[in-house]
Amino acid sequence: MVSPRSIWCCGCNADVLARLTSGREIYPHRADLSRLPFWRCDGCGNFVGCHHKTRDRTRPLGCIPTPEIKNARQHIHRILDPLWQSGRADRSEVYKQLAAALGKQEYHTAEIRSVEEARQVYAAVRVMASPAQEVRHG
Ligand SMILES: [Zn+2]
Repeated sequence: MVSPRSIWCCGCNADVLARLTSGREIYPHRADLSRLPFWRCDGCGNFVGCHHKTRDRTRPLGCIPTPEIKNARQHIHRILDPLWQSGRADRSEVYKQLAAALGKQEYHTAEIRSVEEARQVYAAVRVMASPAQEVRHG
């Protein structure tokens, strides 16, 4: 039995004590996910996945998003991922440039805490993805 873990919950707008559970509870109709670890906020029912492919397999991916924030993050990835998947630039370089555009040290999509924040990131990514804007190297 793993003890609850303090994680920021976007639904509760607070640090909550999340409970470790599995895909069996979170996605009952997805047998393929049944063994994966998730942290669930029992206050609002939202949850976050884990870095399950690493040694610390129950380490949360980030804060606990609401469905709305999760959806906004997917929109960001749809524009962000092709920037480095195309080979036009390094993944780390793309993330570094996005962090700089947002005035942050580091950027992690999983750390986006609000729809407003997601909108700002989305706007920055759109600028980076515009054809006139070449991702700088170095
Ligand atoms: Zn919550």
